[in-house]
Amino acid sequence: MTTRVILKPRKAQPFFARHPWVFAGAIARVEGAPAAASAVPLYSAEGEFIAHGIINPQSKIAVRLYSWDEATPLTPDFFRQQLVRAIQLRRDLGLLQPDGGCRLVNSEGDGLSGCTVDYYAGWLTIQFTALALEARREMFVTLLNELLQPPGIYLRTEKGMGVLEGMALRDGLVSGAIPPPVVAIREHGLTLLVNIAEGQKTGYYFDQRANRQAVATFARGRRVLDAFSYTGGFGLACASAGASHVDCVDASELALTLAQRNAAQNQLAITTHQADVFKHLDALVAEQQRYGLIVLDPPKFARTRAAIPQALRGYRQLLKTAVRLLEPNGYLAFCCCSGLISADELAQLHAEVAASEQRSLQILDRRGAAADHPISAACLESAYLKCFISRVS
Ligand code: SAH
Repeated sequence: MTTRVILKPRKAQPFFARHPWVFAGAIARVEGAPAAASAVPLYSAEGEFIAHGIINPQSKIAVRLYSWDEATPLTPDFFRQQLVRAIQLRRDLGLLQPDGGCRLVNSEGDGLSGCTVDYYAGWLTIQFTALALEARREMFVTLLNELLQPPGIYLRTEKGMGVLEGMALRDGLVSGAIPPPVVAIREHGLTLLVNIAEGQKTGYYFDQRANRQAVATFARGRRVLDAFSYTGGFGLACASAGASHVDCVDASELALTLAQRNAAQNQLAITTHQADVFKHLDALVAEQQRYGLIVLDPPKFARTRAAIPQALRGYRQLLKTAVRLLEPNGYLAFCCCSGLISADELAQLHAEVAASEQRSLQILDRRGAAADHPISAACLESAYLKCFISRVS
């Protein structure tokens, strides 16, 4: 029997609209007993072809879709084409410089659900969040070597993903040479050091590149607080734009050590504080400290729907304390990478906090991730990052 996956009646619309995630609940039956990670065509209940996908019975996302053209099955040539398109975008954006860095492949945003590739001055990190593509790891490594000739490709894994997708993954070299302990990349005129093997996520937060620039516009002559600073991305951009003083706060010692090295590398001065941001902000309020610009870039607070109320409480607390620390007509940059919380909800939160603190808040800019993190119009779940820049009177 030929292998195919058939949807329940009235379940096909999102997939004709090119959403790539088919949850198990939408599937009526699977014909032909395909093994995990094998390619399967998806059909509507009426028997119409929808797309070519890859099945993983262990995942909540039972089938991930990649090609909507019946005549284009999921061959290595198909995946080469997807990678070529992804690489071309970064070339067009001017980001594939020998000393530059960027996200090269953005999973759903580049039609490759479950694969993320970052580029660090030639070196690559690759991350798989789906068995569908992890099972084709060798093919991706071969294609990336063919298309870009990186000195080395390093595999990074996301905690918890292995269990969700049924993958046994460990961080490590998958091709070429072991990257040096830190790789230097250029971002807006700064030289930044990245620890490819041990840095958070895949090493560096490229999604905030353009936001760092936008926020730094307001830094000249101001005292800046960069809360959740990691290796100093926002704080250093502000220091280089003429901030009078920059405090970086993060819980990670490793990140702050690199932040200081980054500052030294660029002849900039920042002060680092290893602390829990919530506690640190409270202490600053108690000391009646004031800042002219505050950046809040917390990690994802809402991982599940059930966690949303708690996450909103956390975001509200951060916003409230930051508003208290802002001098009149100070600037606030509030970032949120919880995909489950919408930009409109965050705007509402800004309004509530400003009102309860008896301040007026003007939203100046509502931003998202940089263009090397394209959002698939068919999969708005890929638009996770929000960044609001405001002025608070
Ligand atoms: N702004 C950074 C990225 C921040 S990522 C940049 O531009 O590159 C989120 C950071 O928050 C991580 O570095 C993590 O170590 C830190 N973090 C998470 N929870 C924290 C907490 N409660 N207190 C302080 N830092 C925290």
